[in-house]
Formats: sequence, C-alpha cells, structure tokens
Amino acid sequence: MVFDITILGSNSASFAFGRHQTAQIVNHNHHLFLIDCGEGTQIQMLRYRIRLNRINHIFISHLHGDHYLGLLGLLSTMHLQGRRNPLFLYGPPGLAEIITLQFQISDTRLNYHIDFKELETERSYQILETDTLTVQTLPLDHRIACCGFLFKEKPKKRRLLRDKLPHGLPPVHLNALKRGEDVKDEAGNVVVRSEEVTLPPRPSRGYAYCSDTRYNERLIPLIRNVDLLYHESTFTNEYAERAAVTYHSTAQQAAEIAQRAEVGRLILGHYSSRYRDLTTFEQEAREVFANSFLSSEGATIPIGELTNESD
Ligand SMILES: [Zn+2]
Ligand SMILES: [Zn+2]
Repeated sequence: MVFDITILGSNSASFAFGRHQTAQIVNHNHHLFLIDCGEGTQIQMLRYRIRLNRINHIFISHLHGDHYLGLLGLLSTMHLQGRRNPLFLYGPPGLAEIITLQFQISDTRLNYHIDFKELETERSYQILETDTLTVQTLPLDHRIACCGFLFKEKPKKRRLLRDKLPHGLPPVHLNALKRGEDVKDEAGNVVVRSEEVTLPPRPSRGYAYCSDTRYNERLIPLIRNVDLLYHESTFTNEYAERAAVTYHSTAQQAAEIAQRAEVGRLILGHYSSRYRDLTTFEQEAREVFANSFLSSEGATIPIGELTNESD
C-alpha cells in the first residue's frame, strides 16, 4: 500500500535558489492530502503532475503567509476546473474568515462546498478518520497558533497465504481469517485455523509533520517511533539564537527531537532564504541523528517500508 510524501516546497518565508514556500502532498493508498499551501503551490502541483481534484483534504498548520498564501489561487482553480466534490479545509481560527471574505468581495460562488474545520492548536486530538488512516494534531511552539499533523495507519489485517487455503472458502470466512478468527463447522469444531493460513499483519506506519516550531520537547511522546518525521530546520547552529527568538528550530534541534523520539528517518526543511548551500544542515543534523536527510522540491519520500498493493 502506497504511503509517501512529495515535497512541493522546502523553503521558509520567500522563494529562493529554486526553493518554494512550504507545501507537501501525503499519498496514502492513492488518497492525496495537501499539507500547507505556500504561494505557488498549484504551479508546483502542475510541475509534478499532481491532479488538484484528487485532493479532498487540505491541512494548514498556521496563518503565516508562507504556509497558506497559495490557497486562494488553488481553491479558485479547483472551481474553474469544475470541481463538485466537497473540500475539507483544516486550519487555525481565522482561516475560514480570510477565505470567505475574499470570495465574498469578488462575488465568487464556488461550485463546490468548502467544509471548514477549525483547529484547536493547544492540544493533540484526532481530526480525521478514514477506513485505513487517522490524522491528529500536534501542538507546536510558534509565534502564532500553530499545529503539526500526525498521519497514522490503522492496525492492518492478517495476510492470507493463498496456497495454504482450502479451496472454495466463501469471502465471509476469508475475512474472518484475516481478522485472526478461526473457521468452525456447525458443531463448533475448528476447520481452518487462522494462524496456519495467514501471516501477521504488516506494521502500521506513521508520519509526523512539524512546521513551524521552536525546539519543543512536548512533541517527543506524541511522535514516538513514527517511521518518518518532517521537522522544520530554518537555521544552522550559527544562527541558533535567531532560531530561538523567531520561534524556529536549527537542524540540530530537529535531529535531537528525532533521536529522542526514536523515529525511523528525519527529513529537514523550511530553510531560511539566507542559505544557498544546504549541506551544513544535513551535516549538523547527522551529528545527532544519523538518519537525517534534506528535503528538496519534487522529491517523493516513502514512509516506512514499501509493501504490496494488496497488503
Ligand atoms: Zn513558515
Ligand atoms: Zn511561521
């Protein structure tokens, strides 16, 4: 089952050195979710062939421009492309007002419905549940209300060993075996034992998105053991003081969170426009957490191990 992220923008405040403002796509089993929507996000989606109307859920972490200024253009294009499906838009208080006012003044009546979901950013709680996935908020420590997002796969079913199955079992029995239940005859005798014809479920994978925040230990228990962590790293050690004052993190602080939370891999991003070369970010992070990598525009990064479609 596909579970990955595609980076559309890896930079902070402004466009620099080919790097765009923050935005990324989460693809879970071909359902696409957009996280943050900096200016130019729809251009990036065009570039990387991501179809706008496959997105039904957009998550905005906070209302600094580099995380949402692309939203109005994107919502307008969805309208022009004839979207009919409702769109679920999650964001901190104020987002609904901003969007509604702009469409109101331009007398734009969208041909689809936007379902605004106002987020509380002070606590962690579940905001979305699908058949296979949950999404919950992660409180972040920033200058204004801000939260990250934790995507977690639900527990999976056991996997059938086709060559060990007796012929002709009806779907109801196959489903029971996948749930770990044995198949019994009318007298209650076990006919097929689940353990003998199935493998344990694949592990449930998790992805945590944390931007923007200063070093925040409260995150550690919430993101423990996730397969992939994206954590902002606006500055290198040289500007550690500036990071603290502006409520941002250094690459090394991001790595410290990753290391203490024992995550699988760390992806850095939200770089300050003052840096042309980013190698110091990776170097400084790896001193603390070896499995640290830079994000870059257009990169698709798998979450955990790749598994077959049917699992
Ligand atoms: Zn930002
Ligand atoms: Zn910010």
